[in-house]
Amino acid sequence: MNYIVDHIPKSKEKRPGTKANITTVTIHNTGNPTSTARNERGWLTNPYNNRAASFHIVVDEDEAIECIPLDEVAYHAGNTEGNTTSIGIELCESGNQQRVWRNGVALAAKILHERGWGISRLRTHQSWSGKYCPRLILPKWDEFLSDVEKELIILNGDGVPEWKKEGINYLGDNRLITDSAGWLKKIDEPMPVWAAMIVMANIHRDLKGEK
Ligand SMILES: [Zn+2]
Repeated sequence: MNYIVDHIPKSKEKRPGTKANITTVTIHNTGNPTSTARNERGWLTNPYNNRAASFHIVVDEDEAIECIPLDEVAYHAGNTEGNTTSIGIELCESGNQQRVWRNGVALAAKILHERGWGISRLRTHQSWSGKYCPRLILPKWDEFLSDVEKELIILNGDGVPEWKKEGINYLGDNRLITDSAGWLKKIDEPMPVWAAMIVMANIHRDLKGEK
């Protein structure tokens, strides 16, 4: 997944420029079934958009766009506490929703990992102000949390044998699955048989308790 930094200019309605004391990360859905991350970024600076509403990062099936620096206030939570203490991530409702989900999981895990935080720091928009958001994720919120936790275990390297980390890096470097940070990469070639055999041999030894 591409990560693009494209900050909007400071403005009263969208980016006050106030430093925030960030302690959590909040997940949203855009509420728009057709908009992409670039569409959402464009809407923030559309002259017809006068609403005091914004977010830090928007994610779609292909990329993440950071629209407001992660240490500044954004208007996403529906109340002051959320706006001034939480990073707002919008998940797009367009495109392949499995990919959007995986990108959202990877991004949330990366942010938590960088700060040394666990999944207790993840919030829903609903938890701040009652709005039914993220509307596509809420019915499966526990699953989302569990996926982020799995990603965090990999990122933190807790109890992961060296060969598993090597395997993840190998597959990522060869654009076969993900890189070590869990970012999705395009699958554009089959896994070589010899690489598959090494992975299988290691799994076999792992199961027998030899690793
Ligand atoms: Zn929301």
